[in-house]
Amino acid sequence: METTPAFEGLRCVDCGETFDPETATHRCPDCEGILDPTYDYDSVELDRDDLESRRFESMWRYEELLPFTCDSAVSMHEGTTPLVECPRLADELGVERVLIKDEGQNPTGTFKDRGQTLAVTAAVQHGASDVALASAGNAGQAASAYAGRAGLDSHVFLPTRSGFTNKAMVNVHGGDMTIVEGRIGDAGAAYEDAMADHDDWYSVKTFETPYRHEGKKTMYYEVVEQLDWEVPDRVVYPTGGGVGLVGMQKAAEEFRDLGLTDDLPAMYAAQAEGCAPVVRAFEEDRDTHEAWDAPDTICGGIEIPDPGASPLILDALRESGGGAVATSDEDILDAAVLVAQHEGIEMGATPAAAASGAWELAQQGEFDEDDTVVVMNTGTANKDADVVRSHLMGKGL
Ligand SMILES: *Cc1c(COP(=O)(O)O)cnc(C)c1O
Ligand SMILES: [Zn+2]
Repeated sequence: METTPAFEGLRCVDCGETFDPETATHRCPDCEGILDPTYDYDSVELDRDDLESRRFESMWRYEELLPFTCDSAVSMHEGTTPLVECPRLADELGVERVLIKDEGQNPTGTFKDRGQTLAVTAAVQHGASDVALASAGNAGQAASAYAGRAGLDSHVFLPTRSGFTNKAMVNVHGGDMTIVEGRIGDAGAAYEDAMADHDDWYSVKTFETPYRHEGKKTMYYEVVEQLDWEVPDRVVYPTGGGVGLVGMQKAAEEFRDLGLTDDLPAMYAAQAEGCAPVVRAFEEDRDTHEAWDAPDTICGGIEIPDPGASPLILDALRESGGGAVATSDEDILDAAVLVAQHEGIEMGATPAAAASGAWELAQQGEFDEDDTVVVMNTGTANKDADVVRSHLMGKGL
């Protein structure tokens, strides 16, 4: 495998055992726990000048802190997305600065590309011929795109509710698509059945592969560099499976431990009221979530009733001094429209949960006047422009 020098192996977050990444490819061979890439940080020589001297053209510029070499990457220059100053939102929220990290500008329109560039690179390194996953939509689209680029076949299981663009583009990328009646859990069950019949399919599903959260962590590195090495006070993230949040928390600790920054930002999980298992667990002071009974939100990307990594998410929220917030679909769609009208930035229905959550947190008095708040726009509005527009039309606009 073409691994980077500091990459040591994969550590199980449950039993603590470490494994060789050549042979351990997905969950912990001993206990089925989530595996997390580890590095010998003492051997990583990175300073601010090094990083600043590199071109800002792909997330692979942080190669030393990724498992695979840049040369081996299945990449379309994902990442290095804009961090856009939003002065009107800052006024409205009563804070010094609001910045939107615009992940809509990734190759397939969402930050899922950061996870798939790494997961599909790993699949190639492991000699896979086929990749497979269940997804609410965006991850499936991203996986079929990266698989196509790598010359692999992809098998994508989506629920009926996933968006038209996702379904269309999985087809266009040549993915083998199965649409499953119901919600994400139903798509997940169909995927499990199919995996049991195909032992040559390589999973690129959330937290099955150790590499999706690892790819998404680069969002945080970029934010800090774009803020000239200032650590934001708050980061608000639309949370489903929590892949990005767990990844960013790891990144924040890495940058601090490498001496590149001094602090950690407070991390906030924003969810929709119709499916908020992480918010409920946070409020009830529990270490893990309870599955949400009847998930129902227009925000498909975060309609995740049973997020297996909730202990990691809840740890990140508590260790960083952040929190969790849920708002209604109505408020979320209003926030998508408001951001589009006041700042020009196109937020999809799912990411707008982060904008709406930021408002709610501001109203609860969670933010200080001199705060810098970063809102993660995880995907472009083009993915579900129909949803946001029909919200306006429903109001007679
Ligand atoms: C998948 C997705 C999310 C949720 O991501 P997690 O990291 O799994 O919590 C948020 N926004 C969009 C647009 C997504 O596609
Ligand atoms: Zn284990």
